[in-house]
Amino acid sequence: MEKIVENLYRIKEKVAAAQAVSGYNEEIELIAASKNQPPESLLMLASEGSVTVFGENKVQEYMTKKDTGLTFDIIGRLQTNKVKYVVGNVRLIQSVDRFELLQEIEKKAEKRGIIQSVLMEVNSGGEENKGGVLPENIRSFAELFLDCPHVKLEGIMAVAPIADENTLRRLFENVREKFELLKTDLSGIKYLSMGMSEDYETAIKCGSNMVRLGRALFGENSRSIIK
Ligand SMILES: *Cc1c(COP(=O)(O)O)cnc(C)c1O
Repeated sequence: MEKIVENLYRIKEKVAAAQAVSGYNEEIELIAASKNQPPESLLMLASEGSVTVFGENKVQEYMTKKDTGLTFDIIGRLQTNKVKYVVGNVRLIQSVDRFELLQEIEKKAEKRGIIQSVLMEVNSGGEENKGGVLPENIRSFAELFLDCPHVKLEGIMAVAPIADENTLRRLFENVREKFELLKTDLSGIKYLSMGMSEDYETAIKCGSNMVRLGRALFGENSRSIIK
C-alpha cells in the first residue's frame, strides 16, 4: 500500500517534468487504471487526493467496485449489451469506437433522460488487432455524434502500439493535431487521454492532458490478464 503512494509521488514528479518541456499548460489528469486491483487499493489511493477517477476495463469488474462511491471511467472495449450498466453511472465512456456502440449509448441515455459524456477511441498506430477509429477517420466519426443528442463527445482516447520513442512521438503528435482540429470543429472537446505506464512521459510531451496508469501506480504484478 505504501508502495502505491510512493509510486504516485514519483509519477507526479515525472508528469511535471514532462509537462515543463511540452509547451502545453493544460492541467493533466491522472487516471488510475485499476483493473485487477481490490477496492481497498482504490480507496487508499483516492484518500491521497491526487487521483479522483478510476478507469475500469470490464463492466463486470466495475460493478463489483461501484459501491465504493468512487468516480469511474470505462476504458476497455465495451460490448453493446453491457451499455445499460454504465450509462448514467460513469463519468466518461472512453472507448467509443464504432457506430453500433454510439447508437446504443444514445438509446440508453435517452431512456434514462441523461446526457452521457464519452471519448472517441483512436487507434493511433493503425494496428489491425486493436479497436479504435483510425486517425484519418476521426472527423467523419465525429459527425455521427451530431445525431446523438444524449451523447456528449468530450475528446479522444488514444491507444498506441509498443514502439520506439520517435515512432511514438510521431503518432502522438498526429493525434494531438487531430485533437486541435476537432476542438475547432466542435464545442466541448477538452480531453486528450493518451499515455500509459510505458509511454506517459512521451505522451505528455506531445500534448496529452490525461494519462491512464496501471503498472506504474500499482506495481508490475498488476499487468493485465484481462485485456
Ligand atoms: C490497462 C490499461 C491501461 C494501463 O496500462 P499500464 O500499462 O498498466 O499503465 C491504460 N489504458 C487501458 C485502456 C488499459 O486497458
